[in-house]
Amino acid sequence: MKPKPVLIYILPIVIVILLFSIWYFKRRAATVTDSRLMLGTFVEITAMGESRDELERAVESAFLRISEIEAVADRYTKNSEISKLNLMAKRGGVGEIPVSDDIIEMLDLAGEVSERSNGAFDVTIAPVVDLWDFSPGGRGVGGRVPDKGKIGERLRLVDYRSVVIEKDNNTVSLRKAGIKLDLGGIAKGYAVDEAVKVLRKLGVESGVINAGGDMAVIGYKGGYKGGHKGGGNNGGTPWRIGIQDPRNPNGLIAVLSLNDVSVVTSGDYERYFIKGGKRYHHIVDPKTGYPSEAAISVTVIAKNTALADTLATAIFVLGPEMGIRLAEDFAGKTDDGGNSVEAMIVGPDGKFYETGGFKDIVEYLD
Ligand code: ADP
Ligand code: MG
Repeated sequence: MKPKPVLIYILPIVIVILLFSIWYFKRRAATVTDSRLMLGTFVEITAMGESRDELERAVESAFLRISEIEAVADRYTKNSEISKLNLMAKRGGVGEIPVSDDIIEMLDLAGEVSERSNGAFDVTIAPVVDLWDFSPGGRGVGGRVPDKGKIGERLRLVDYRSVVIEKDNNTVSLRKAGIKLDLGGIAKGYAVDEAVKVLRKLGVESGVINAGGDMAVIGYKGGYKGGHKGGGNNGGTPWRIGIQDPRNPNGLIAVLSLNDVSVVTSGDYERYFIKGGKRYHHIVDPKTGYPSEAAISVTVIAKNTALADTLATAIFVLGPEMGIRLAEDFAGKTDDGGNSVEAMIVGPDGKFYETGGFKDIVEYLD
């Protein structure tokens, strides 16, 4: 049977249009999104640009960099550098252990935030966190309140001053037997920063990384050279980042419009259990050994994610008044005259507390 003549004319045109469209969209408007289970959470990376192939390569490299950090920093992985340090301290050793630059950088920043927050942030919180059993792979959200005496005992092992780093020869020593490191309050933020570096280096001008509430945005959404016909912001628009309603998993309390910055939210709703009408969650006050009741949620905006991550935890422990002061203490000036650190706290009373410049960025929803 002979094909209908009209098809003979139309088919090649359709094919040409199809091929052209594929080529056009591949070249002009690619968005690559991928998410992977890493660092005990879902890490999602989105990159926008002209070439899908290049974006895919960049996103892949960024994930690789994150897995490198996970490999040294995860205390639940047997041979990580942190596990080696913890094992040595468990055996009572106080010797030095060689570590990667990543561990040095994380412990260095952690130490600074500990000092300046009067110990509200403390990477040696692990012995107490373990009692509460909020480990990601373990019994998850605990469900049982530890014995008070036991908490007191473990608190004696919480002391960030016993962590001594030698930047010159990349070594760490833990100067107290039984001490245990937990980078859970900084590793995700640090990993996001390193992933951002990789993406930028590989030419990504527009993107967002979200590691379970630790986020960084690169440039403007859809803003990249050649992607659009000129205009400001490379033709893109600010990224719109929602702040979760701490008491409604499907709701938002506010939206932020941002570019080239990090946003981290820590809340009492991420890992918790309720017992006797009381909420117990995974951010522990190093002074008491109990989950902090000084806040419900804390959002920090900063130039880098590791700082925002540590500050969010520290501010959560400190509560609105001292927390805002800590954020202001860390704030320098940005190029446009704003503050480089802004914070917003949902207090135990449900009220919002914020740093001076936060109002200018936020759009509250009712
Ligand atoms: P999330 O991991 O849900 O983003 P955070 O960034 O606030 O939450 O970090 C909480 C994690 O940090 C805990 O799971 C624990 O591993 C660790 N942690 C808990 N309390 C403290 C603290 N006071 N200082 C440092 N790290 C803490
Ligand atoms: Mg955090």
